[in-house]
Amino acid sequence: MKCKTCGSALEIVRSCGSVKMRCTSCDRRFAIHEVVDQLDEKTESQLAGYPVIIYD
Ligand SMILES: [Zn+2]
Repeated sequence: MKCKTCGSALEIVRSCGSVKMRCTSCDRRFAIHEVVDQLDEKTESQLAGYPVIIYD
């Protein structure tokens, strides 16, 4: 998945009970629903490993 700001790779970060995507380059954070249109299989299976995903 790619950052909408700079195009770098996003990684999954977990904070305070919610799961977000963080850009490895510009450190911008995205809620899952902001990037759900570009969810790929790899990311989806990684997210499936979390017991609770809060879409906020
Ligand atoms: Zn970025």
